[in-house]
Amino acid sequence: MNDLGLDPLLVELLRCPLPHHAVLEPGDGELVCTECGAAFPVRDGLPVMLIDEARR
Ligand SMILES: [Zn+2]
Repeated sequence: MNDLGLDPLLVELLRCPLPHHAVLEPGDGELVCTECGAAFPVRDGLPVMLIDEARR
């Protein structure tokens, strides 16, 4: 478990929903795309992988 309360294996499997499908790295309450910098919020221990919800 990391600070986000997410399984590191899950974080490894998650990819940015944009066409580049880059890996994500845990940030402060969010998962940040290593390619485009979009930050996806983690709510109640669940990552919200919607580009509309991402902070750019
Ligand atoms: Zn991205």
